[in-house]
Amino acid sequence: MTATHSSSRAFSSLNLHQDLVKNLSTLGYQEMTPIQALSLPEMLAGKDVIAQGQTGSGKTAAFGLALLEKLQVKRFRIQSMVLCPTRELADQVAKEIRKLARAVHNIKVLTLCGGTPFGPQIGSLEHGAHIIVGTPGRIEEHVIKGTLKLDDLNLLILDEADRMLEMGFEAALDNIIERTPLERQTLLFSATFPKQIQVISESIMTEPVMVKVSNSDDQAKISQQFFHVENDEQRFEALRLILLTNPVESSVIFCNTKKETQAVCTKLHDDGFSVLALHGDLEQRDRDQTLLRFANKSAAILVATDVAARGLDIDALDLVVNYHIAHDSEVHIHRIGRTGRAGAQGKAISLFSDKESYKVGLIEDTLEQVIKPELLPSTEVLNNTRTQAKMTTIQIDGGKKQKVRPGDILGALTAKSTGAEVNGKDVGKISVLDNKAYVAVNKKVLKIALRKLSTGKMKGRSFKVRHLTL
Ligand code: AMP
Repeated sequence: MTATHSSSRAFSSLNLHQDLVKNLSTLGYQEMTPIQALSLPEMLAGKDVIAQGQTGSGKTAAFGLALLEKLQVKRFRIQSMVLCPTRELADQVAKEIRKLARAVHNIKVLTLCGGTPFGPQIGSLEHGAHIIVGTPGRIEEHVIKGTLKLDDLNLLILDEADRMLEMGFEAALDNIIERTPLERQTLLFSATFPKQIQVISESIMTEPVMVKVSNSDDQAKISQQFFHVENDEQRFEALRLILLTNPVESSVIFCNTKKETQAVCTKLHDDGFSVLALHGDLEQRDRDQTLLRFANKSAAILVATDVAARGLDIDALDLVVNYHIAHDSEVHIHRIGRTGRAGAQGKAISLFSDKESYKVGLIEDTLEQVIKPELLPSTEVLNNTRTQAKMTTIQIDGGKKQKVRPGDILGALTAKSTGAEVNGKDVGKISVLDNKAYVAVNKKVLKIALRKLSTGKMKGRSFKVRHLTL
């Protein structure tokens, strides 16, 4: 069965608790996005739903609202669980659910992901939760050890199911799902629909409703350019020309492999570009830092693999470059969908060689458009200055566990004392993690900011600080 239309886009047309609806308007969600309008009525009716939802479509709020509506807050048991491919996505999902749940008191969301110590998670599980959000590997460990019991689960959500399979989580998913009650609602979100997804959905879902949102509306806002290159040497030269003719604040370059991601980043860095790399060979901690530094505008360019870029939470990128064409046209559409968000005009540029021409053909078929390669910009631009990031990041060796709060950091930076001070407008995003905090400051005030943070006190003590250079 396929759901194709919905009569109203107003959240009030749904059978949602009033408090949830009221909170949505405070979040600035005026009306449902297409995927919400199509999937919410089905999910709220208790049906299993397979939805094609990409990052940016509003999919998290779609399943988040269904989840909260179903939840019985007074029953302090694990009732719903969201499985995500990466820790970054799990963190984002948990954040969005907490935001949506603001109007409902005492909802406990617990994230369970790899890359963090096991022991404290057991402690948190002993305290109990309503909702679990996490990655399959770690959740599997917990269910096998018996530290996570899913007997009361009545809603299971697989987010970015295609990525979870790509990352080899199929066996972990099987092990987890085996330990959930059969009488449950299952929702599956995926950007693409390879055959494997169909097979899985058949085995774990009951008469699922398919929800698909057309990409055509979104695509209109993204201008796409394609450039033909002869070989890898010309590919890199073409990339430099493109970056120099498009001197934007934030761009992402997608590569198909981790090795190439690192190589392209290193070469761009050596050529004077403000750039960071993001791929799975980096330690989780470094990936978190990179995401944070790119989002706070401490680097103008991010070179990334598709999987690693899943954790990227930026409303609108100015430019997306496909260094190689994605292996699948739906992945291509997903990549370029990261630009042109929130009504802004986006730009996507793709490089391809003869070997990849057939992939361009597949994109033409998907978009129902003829693609005409353009001429590369002139090499004159190679002497242009490279756009530098306006901000830079300072790491502070103290976080939530040390009770450091954003206000303490801002306070220490802007405190009036003898000597120069930092103006609030030169302080950017402040992110406080468990044991570390990061603050973006305008490069022109870096030295003063470092001095203020290292000599000033926060929570009555001083913390070690470090400038993160590119
Ligand atoms: P997602 O596709 O879940 O990653 O969501 C993309 C962004 O859209 C997030 O920043 C959400 O907070 C936001 N969002 C979700 N639903 C709505 C809505 N109905 N109206 C406006 N923004 C929304």
